[in-house]
Amino acid sequence: MMNIFSKTKETDYTIIIGCGRLGASLANMLSDNGTDVLMLDKDEAAFRKLSSSYGGLTLEGDARDISTLREAGIEKAKVVVSVTNDDNTNIMVAQIAKELYQIPYVVCRLYDPERECVYHEFEINTICPAVLSANEINKLLGSSVYHMEAQRA
Ligand code: AMP
Repeated sequence: MMNIFSKTKETDYTIIIGCGRLGASLANMLSDNGTDVLMLDKDEAAFRKLSSSYGGLTLEGDARDISTLREAGIEKAKVVVSVTNDDNTNIMVAQIAKELYQIPYVVCRLYDPERECVYHEFEINTICPAVLSANEINKLLGSSVYHMEAQRA
């Protein structure tokens, strides 16, 4: 499958911020595919979610602290994914990565759908679980339940 790592650049160094279920799953996936990953979380216990086959690095620290981002090697990253459980943190990190370090690929999770539209304008890729889930549920229902009801009527 083609993804951004197939496209360019000698290094694929990827920083993931937030080792929750989403961050850990992504880190495991990328690491299994041979990507050079660093997982950053402020809570060391969160790293337990990484699989035993995870071959990347871990760093304990607060992503709101720029010195932590520097310690993570943000200046050499090709990809930064910020998926903490705090929208403000994710937005702040995404803006630092994009504006200050010109990271080519920046993705952040936003819980608040209203903010998602705003950040599209800044060319920050946002993932909003509520919107994604609503679209998927709508697709499932649209192609079966409502269609069948209409045919029956
Ligand atoms: P979840 O809500 O399960 O996706 O987990 C979110 C993760 O983000 C948790 O493991 C938190 O410890 C982590 N987290 C939240 N805020 C920060 C922060 N400022 N810096 C680093 N990690 C964070």
